[in-house]
Amino acid sequence: MAYDFDLFVIGGGSAGVRCARIAAGHGARVGVAERRFWGGTCVNVGCVPKKLMVMAAEYGAAARDSHGFGWDFPPGHHHWPTLIANKDREIARLNVVYRTLLESAGARIFETTAGFLDAHTLDVGGERVSAGRIVIATGGRPQLPAFPGGEHCIVSDDAFFLKDRPQRVVLLGGGYIAVEFACIFAGLGSQVDLVLRQPLPLRGFDEDLRLALAEALAANGIRLHPGTVTESVQAVGGARRVTLSDGTVLDADLVFSALGRMPQTEGLGLEYAGVATDGHGAVRVDAELRTSQQHIYAIGDVTNRLNLTPVATAEGHALAEALFGPGPRQWALDKVATAVFASPPLATVGLTEAAAAARGPADIYLTRFTPMRHALSGRPRKTFMKLVVDQRTQVVLGAHMLGEDAPEIMQGLSIAINCGATKADFDRTVGIHPTAAEEFVTLRTRARVAGGSTT
Ligand SMILES: Cc1cc2nc3c(=O)[nH]c(=O)nc-3n(C[C@H](O)[C@H](O)[C@H](O)COP(=O)(O)OP(=O)(O)OC[C@H]3O[C@@H](n4cnc5c(N)ncnc54)[C@H](O)[C@@H]3O)c2cc1C
Repeated sequence: MAYDFDLFVIGGGSAGVRCARIAAGHGARVGVAERRFWGGTCVNVGCVPKKLMVMAAEYGAAARDSHGFGWDFPPGHHHWPTLIANKDREIARLNVVYRTLLESAGARIFETTAGFLDAHTLDVGGERVSAGRIVIATGGRPQLPAFPGGEHCIVSDDAFFLKDRPQRVVLLGGGYIAVEFACIFAGLGSQVDLVLRQPLPLRGFDEDLRLALAEALAANGIRLHPGTVTESVQAVGGARRVTLSDGTVLDADLVFSALGRMPQTEGLGLEYAGVATDGHGAVRVDAELRTSQQHIYAIGDVTNRLNLTPVATAEGHALAEALFGPGPRQWALDKVATAVFASPPLATVGLTEAAAAARGPADIYLTRFTPMRHALSGRPRKTFMKLVVDQRTQVVLGAHMLGEDAPEIMQGLSIAINCGATKADFDRTVGIHPTAAEEFVTLRTRARVAGGSTT
């Protein structure tokens, strides 16, 4: 049977754009639908604008730091509307770049919503379109909390378009979005309360790293409310009153809920195509990214596995190569480095101490020091670094860092760790001086053994 397209991609975010572009580049007849903004979450309401705002937040402290180096910048005022306008201009430029990439690759673009009518047919903004293969790349979306008054909160999508910077912000959640925005608002001068259910932020990350982060957040003036949940949010005039499970009442100008994201599958008509989802609405896929239908695939956040942009793009690329290129392209998806752009940022790759210890004895190396810049700035900032090493093979299983440039440093380290570097390989590497990164190749003294060995 002849279809209108060889491939139709639903969703023009990181995963969908890459998949459509590469497939079209291989000569496939490709259609792609995006209903909101080209580039998806990452470009519009995720990584990119977030990082621009993190950069904005760093300038105030940097100006104060400069006094220790002889500069006399007076305390400045931050103009939020300028930041948002400049950010919007940059994002609009990126939207055009993404759209142009698709068009120049030869894909036909649809700026509308697509949904299934049956397993090979889609309704694309009222047009009936058929495709031999279909890729679901519809991403995820933030959800409002279910407690009383949840509707008085904003979610991350809203935070990028606030007209003014709120003076008092309550952030709900202990994940990376909550932590990053806590640092953004605090860095720009807001009073920030961070409410988290766990004793420490970033569940799932290395415990020492979590502790170092909690200390860094407190040093930034952020008030942490660990081990608490929100019972209710009330609107009091234009302000908000937040009641916590420990009885604390917080008055705020803005309550920002970062309590979780949902796969975006609602209204897609998956039931008409026979595509199965899990209990959270995520599309189930096998190792080849195939759904319960042989010719329908799902990539990126909609599958709710490792919700990161580079993973989404790698999946989109790999799938397009497998379907229309010379063959599948391999990515190392088991040891993906990741960063949290807090202030200072942190980054990590491989196993945590706890995960390594569960597999066998692990040698732990760590260091904590005042970075060179802050010896003169006087700012109470610490850098933390840690290596987790398999005691038997001496392979470095994990690296963790909190400190300036941690994400940039970890990208390089992740290559070594993905190549199976041992502690001896780290030790024989000559450092670059004076840097923080050189500490990773000069960690000589084992701090402890995790996982029960005595050697
Ligand atoms: C605040 C925030 C910060 C983040 N920071 C980072 C970071 O620093 N680093 C990192 O790696 N990741 C980060 N992420 C995660 C990253 O943004 C996602 O992993 C990535 O965008 C997933 O890409 P995707 O293509 O799967 O989905 P998306 O980028 O969400 O794209 C899906 C697209 O599909 C469209 N769509 C949905 N349904 C339909 C439909 N029926 N018809 C047509 N179009 C449809 C949507 O409009 C959307 O544009 C962040 C996320 C958030 C929210």
